[in-house]
Amino acid sequence: MIDPTEIKGLKDYRDRLRMHTTKRFPTRPIENITHIAVHHSLTKTGSAEAFARYHVGTNNWPGIGYHIVIEQDGVIKWCNEFEKRTYHVGNSNGFSVGVCMTGDFRTDEPKPEQWQSLLRVLNWLKTELNISIENIQGHNEFSGYSWKECPCVDMTELRAVINKPKIKQKKIINYAPGSYSFKDILRNEVNFYLGELKRLNPQITELQSPKKTKVEVKPPSSSPYLDTKTSTEIREVIKEMEHHNYKVFLNDKKDYNLNIVGVRSHSQIPNSFNDKLMVFWKFKGSWTLKQYKITTDPVLYWLQNPMNVNGTAILKEGQYKNAYRIGKHTSKSGSYTALVQAEPVTVIRDYDKDADLDFTGSREETGLFGINIHLSKKSGKSSFVDKWSAGCQVFKNSNEYKEFISVCQIAASEWGNSFTYSLINNY
Ligand SMILES: [Zn+2]
Repeated sequence: MIDPTEIKGLKDYRDRLRMHTTKRFPTRPIENITHIAVHHSLTKTGSAEAFARYHVGTNNWPGIGYHIVIEQDGVIKWCNEFEKRTYHVGNSNGFSVGVCMTGDFRTDEPKPEQWQSLLRVLNWLKTELNISIENIQGHNEFSGYSWKECPCVDMTELRAVINKPKIKQKKIINYAPGSYSFKDILRNEVNFYLGELKRLNPQITELQSPKKTKVEVKPPSSSPYLDTKTSTEIREVIKEMEHHNYKVFLNDKKDYNLNIVGVRSHSQIPNSFNDKLMVFWKFKGSWTLKQYKITTDPVLYWLQNPMNVNGTAILKEGQYKNAYRIGKHTSKSGSYTALVQAEPVTVIRDYDKDADLDFTGSREETGLFGINIHLSKKSGKSSFVDKWSAGCQVFKNSNEYKEFISVCQIAASEWGNSFTYSLINNY
């Protein structure tokens, strides 16, 4: 069996997706594979989990039809062994590997991270399976499918990019300030992970999706946080924030200019405080960092008994500028001081009421939902999240919470009662 887990950003989802109770895909010798079929999902959003549910539940197939799904954040999910003859290009299934990007590219474009992941996957498959460049085809280039609007990406350009000679060493090109086309960068950096390119080239401020032509490259500026006194943890989280173009509060004329950043762990187990809240600020050139155990996810109880008919809310990754203020959080046991939502945030509604947290494939909504940052128990620690959180960001430990609120109160007296909250996935 060939194993693609060495591909950066790939996650093995073979055992994590819905399968038919009895039906199984037939297998084939690996040598039979001569082609790769590139698809889009034809849906605005979606995930391997959602496609698997559809292919099994609605189509009554043995499992998900694709071998690999590349989601909009660039995460690559390995869904089926390549030896499995799955369903995605009809008569050509026997000799093809199916790679699907989430999105509807009739109207949208692949996200840059998604495009980079696609290049990595195709480069790897091409080498491992010894597939010729012309046999990397869009769904509609396969026999009998010229009518199909799939994948709606320029396959000629894609093949040209893959066919470029590879740059072996991990060398970052020194971009002079100026305006570059995305394609120029892509040609030079075909083997590069986009995030890495941006991290190592802070002067590249904007990388648009592949079809757009202009990229603004500004002169390198001395980075205000990369001094020797900055701890690795702060350095890493700031790099991640800058990677998402989030504002980092650096003004240190007064103390407590807070950066409040939730870091959501990859583990999507409800009922556990497995995320962290990083609170950090710079004063007179030095950073202070506080880290607290929290959960950014709603809990099992609310997933299965949502208060809202549209399903329980999960706060979406993002930066919510000035969206929080010190106020009162009301719970069954009364109300107490908390950071409360003051401006719209975006939530993902998980409406299938299963025990998984679904971050994609569900509906998004933006508005005022009372997604507060608060405490689980008034004193001591909570070992399980239990009923405390319905999409709120909830502290495990009451002493940590008290410290956090007092830091916020000092900050409010210096900078006003308005806080920006950023939620990022673990990096
Ligand atoms: Zn297709």
